[in-house]
Amino acid sequence: MSILLEELGDDAAAYCGGTELLLAMKLGLAGYAHLVDLKRVAGLHGITRHNGSLRIGAATTHQEIESSPDVRAWCPAMAAMSSRVANLRVRSVGTLGGNLCFADPHSDPATFLIAAGAAMVCQKGGDTRRVRAGEFVAGPYQTVLEPGELLVAVELPVFPDATGLAHVRMKLHERPAVTVAAMVRLTDGAVSDARLAVGSVGVVPESSEAARSLLGAGAAEFGARADACAAEAAATCSPMSDGDCSPEYLRHLVRVHSNRALTAAFAAAQSKGS
Ligand SMILES: Cc1cc2nc3c(=O)[nH]c(=O)nc-3n(C[C@H](O)[C@H](O)[C@H](O)COP(=O)(O)OP(=O)(O)OC[C@H]3O[C@@H](n4cnc5c(N)ncnc54)[C@H](O)[C@@H]3O)c2cc1C
Repeated sequence: MSILLEELGDDAAAYCGGTELLLAMKLGLAGYAHLVDLKRVAGLHGITRHNGSLRIGAATTHQEIESSPDVRAWCPAMAAMSSRVANLRVRSVGTLGGNLCFADPHSDPATFLIAAGAAMVCQKGGDTRRVRAGEFVAGPYQTVLEPGELLVAVELPVFPDATGLAHVRMKLHERPAVTVAAMVRLTDGAVSDARLAVGSVGVVPESSEAARSLLGAGAAEFGARADACAAEAAATCSPMSDGDCSPEYLRHLVRVHSNRALTAAFAAAQSKGS
């Protein structure tokens, strides 16, 4: 498949569900002499356990992820996030790989997978490399994939006990205006690890350094620390003005949704015991 794509060069594009690419072609925004159908590649399908991680094939649809017993058991927040992507029609054909490789700035999975600490498995011929989720998107509609290289799978790590994940978002139109995901891990009731990812407001989803300020917080002080962390995430994010929302409003959305995501992740971590 990689060889075929490389041979055809700029005349060809890979597609999977086609919900992005075929729409772009119909609108005249892209044109290719050849389309290479990835749905037929067996290695891109399936949800399996692999070397201590849960491996989700790139051609897995959002609907398959949301209804997978393995995903629900391993990472319920991933199943919940997938169930809110787009609408039923898009979720039943649109794939996780297509979403990530299209790199639309308004992506739910791209934000969520940063907070989850996921790895992207990329392959070209016999060469495989793993790219951290936060480094996969290079810019709007751009990834770090090389010509002919495919995203073959996404790997979710093991989440130890007392780890909570949450994804929150708000939509004004079809795509989310803000997406925020948080991971909180507790040891003896206090935060021992935390990540916060902010997406859809800037050109690429980003991990926020503000999450470091949560380390050591126990239940009594978590609320105040989450408030301060959310304010810092809003102040340090890079919002774009997209015609609907001013940068100030986007910062406000980031603050509100960061607070919600952190609070939900903390509660989820507590419910799993520390
Ligand atoms: C009406 C609508 C609403 C939407 N709402 C949301 C939303 O709320 N949240 C959200 O996150 N997304 C949303 N989306 C985006 C949706 O999730 C994507 O359209 C879908 O997941 C893309 O998958 P696909 O398989 O159809 O991609 P395709 O259109 O098949 O491919 C997209 C791009 O990725 C490349 N590609 C695909 N697979 C691979 C691979 N394995 N390796 C390398 N390159 C690859 C293709 O070459 C192409 O450039 C929405 C889309 C629509 C149309």
